[in-house]
Amino acid sequence: MNTLVNEPMLTVEQALEHIFKLTPAARNKEKITLHKAHQRVLASEAIATFDVPPFRNSAMDGYAIRSADLREASTTKLTVVGKSFAGHPFDAEISAGEAVRIMTGAVMPKGADTVIMQEHVLSQNDQIEIPAGQKPFQNVRQAGEDLKQGEVILKPGRRLHAADIGLLASIGIVEIEVFCKPRVTIFSTGDELQSLGAPLGSGQIYDSNRYTLHALLRKTDVEIIDMGVLPDDETIISKALEDAAQSSDIVITSGGVSVGEADFIKDTLLKLGHVDFWKIAMKPGKPLAFGQLGNALFFGLPGNPVSVMVTFALFARESIRVLSGEDKPTSIALTAVTLDDLKKQPGRREYQRGIYKRTNTGDLEVSTTGSQGSHILKSMSLANCFVILPRQSGDIPKGTTLEILPFSDIL
Ligand code: AMP
Ligand code: MG
Repeated sequence: MNTLVNEPMLTVEQALEHIFKLTPAARNKEKITLHKAHQRVLASEAIATFDVPPFRNSAMDGYAIRSADLREASTTKLTVVGKSFAGHPFDAEISAGEAVRIMTGAVMPKGADTVIMQEHVLSQNDQIEIPAGQKPFQNVRQAGEDLKQGEVILKPGRRLHAADIGLLASIGIVEIEVFCKPRVTIFSTGDELQSLGAPLGSGQIYDSNRYTLHALLRKTDVEIIDMGVLPDDETIISKALEDAAQSSDIVITSGGVSVGEADFIKDTLLKLGHVDFWKIAMKPGKPLAFGQLGNALFFGLPGNPVSVMVTFALFARESIRVLSGEDKPTSIALTAVTLDDLKKQPGRREYQRGIYKRTNTGDLEVSTTGSQGSHILKSMSLANCFVILPRQSGDIPKGTTLEILPFSDIL
């Protein structure tokens, strides 16, 4: 029986809602050194155990002085009594009429509260002259100006970027707790698929989806288990998926979920788990299977190369983000004016491929990559964004403002 024919179409939002309902939050944690922490997701709070910077220090190369000594209207003359270099503080306190030669990052001597840039100072032997007009308290960095002792500097759910790593290092943290990477198994399905390296026989094509998916997954920082190509054989598919479900958090296949005759995945899955077959009101990517396979989540993506990328980006990637423990990033909705007339039938939201750029006036405009068939993978390669065409709209004339989804976070 055909399970798809009478299903109502889900909107993209409804599909996502179902996916989030079934996706468990990240649980497993591990300790790793800071060197390995880039792009990992923090699992516990990082707290500053001391002030950063830990001491008052100079923001300039120059002379540390007492503001009380500064004359507003005339030259200030002082005697240099020592030096404070980075890592080599001046240990005594300075008194009236005294200055200390100081370098950027060096400890401010006791008694000093102002640094005069060396470019503004006339010096001869141990005597300096500061011209009128210098401001009290300038060029001093206070302890704790960057981080205050006790401050929560990063929260769980944070995907750590380079600045975060540096921040953690600045409070001396060498080991942190992160969420374990989800394990994701991928398969391609189809009797027509040939592996790279072997010549193409009659009716065969190369298995490009597995390479695309592999690359998309690398961007999400998961553990990838690549299980190759499965033939359209119910027994083989059934066994492979059952095994994969035991050793993964997510199993992703491409192909075999449409209404076609040779689509075995459907029947197999209905035996192995709770999987729903969805028609989603979107283009490309209408058929999608999603559900549970034992303890693993299952995404049966459509076979067409562009559909794989769109459904991965919109659905699988979001589920992986939750499983990874990562907070939802604040996304900025971007719009661009289409430079082309766009063909469309009402009924499904379209994710067409476009090339957006900024105009001289600072607005965004977007042009089409041409043919939009879900088998035209080149359209994804040429594009730098999805152009989102609203579900109910028909043909869209050039000059219309449309939402776009840049590829920078996806590909
Ligand atoms: P299916 O959903 O299995 O009917 O596949 C839909 C279309 O996608 C067909 O033209 C398939 O040949 C193609 N296709 C399926 N899997 C792959 C793959 N791994 N690489 C490239 N094309 C594929
Ligand atoms: Mg197939």
